[in-house]
Amino acid sequence: MRIAMISEHASPLAAPGEEGAGGQNLHVAELAAALTDAGHEVRVYTRRDSPTLPETVPAADGYQVWHVPAGPARRVPADDLLPHIGEFGSWLADTWRHRGWTPDVAHAHYWTSGLAAVHASRRTRVPTVLTYHTLGSVKRRHQGAPDIGPPGRVGYERALGRAVDRVVVQSTDEVAELVRMGVPRSRMALVPAGVNQAVFRPDGPAAPRTPGRPRILTVGRMVERKGFLDVVRALPAVPDAECVVVGGPPADLLPADAFARRLSALAESCGVADRVRLLGGVPREEMGSWYRSADVLVAAPWYEPFGLTPLEAMACGVPVIGTDVGGIADSVVDGLTGDLVPPRDPRALGTALRRLLGDHVRRFTYATAALDRIRSRYSWRRCAEQLGAVYGTLVTAARPAPAVAC
Ligand code: UDP
Repeated sequence: MRIAMISEHASPLAAPGEEGAGGQNLHVAELAAALTDAGHEVRVYTRRDSPTLPETVPAADGYQVWHVPAGPARRVPADDLLPHIGEFGSWLADTWRHRGWTPDVAHAHYWTSGLAAVHASRRTRVPTVLTYHTLGSVKRRHQGAPDIGPPGRVGYERALGRAVDRVVVQSTDEVAELVRMGVPRSRMALVPAGVNQAVFRPDGPAAPRTPGRPRILTVGRMVERKGFLDVVRALPAVPDAECVVVGGPPADLLPADAFARRLSALAESCGVADRVRLLGGVPREEMGSWYRSADVLVAAPWYEPFGLTPLEAMACGVPVIGTDVGGIADSVVDGLTGDLVPPRDPRALGTALRRLLGDHVRRFTYATAALDRIRSRYSWRRCAEQLGAVYGTLVTAARPAPAVAC
């Protein structure tokens, strides 16, 4: 099958950690690679955000990246791209109609890419699939209105749910959210993303441990909603353990980070400063060794659309205590591969930590079950197979292309 992936602001060629590059860049890169592996012909369309980029670049994993000239050839934040969507969509339609390669299906990532895909599809009749990644309505509920992007975002997301042929959802929580928004359940396909099991695996080097101290690891960007303050507040319940916090700016820039300073001040006032280590951001290649060094991963966000870090830890054979939100509520099976606790509840988190760190057998059985769950449910190969089946139903049902150009 010929698959067009549209990821307007998140190029699969950008390294995570580069300015503006994060989970979506990685997701698109790994999915494009898995679909290529499964025998599909994949082109990824992303905005040309630098004048030096060539029109096409072959990715090492066998797919092609196309740089679409829409808007200024410099980096523009994802939510400021709305004025350039029409240009992006028109360019796609022209290219698909006149340059000898028309996709069987277009899979868009994030709402702005969804708009571009629908725009192109109106002129080409290429069936469209959308993965939202994050929803404005969820962000607004948890972060307040100013953070969610342009005022029309929620309305566009609602309309997109009906305009595209299929919505790929990542968690049961997202299904419920979209149903509340009026997206028909019959349009949705629940296909969770995968985790890279070549990078995240139980064998391999582990970061050095502090003798005599159980290690709690927690990973993520230095933002309040990731729940690091709650982890620090839970630490008095586990007096022997150390807590390693990975993420945020590189170590030398941490002192300038307002949230990191707030976290250190809280650790001081809770009397646990000697047991909290802020490492700053570490390169992705080193993440596996940090997971493998830990007795437990805590993922305590207030909300989490998908949540890669619990899956990465599970793939490394590390049990997870997570908050019962978003994608984590699906990936962690409470009492089987880890424990789920309510968000923003340091007391419940402390109790769960004390119980798990004091019970070696439970940690071992959780870790074994977690690994099984990752291997059976969260491989990129499985994700590519399931998406291939979703695309297949749309291609079969696709309307014939119009005979004349419009
Ligand atoms: N990560 C990393 N270095 C760090 C901290 C995080 O490479 O110092 C990676 C982590 O391994 C995971 C991603 O960043 O792949 C974070 O994904 P998640 O879904 O947990 O959170 P997001 O940042 O997308 O909200």
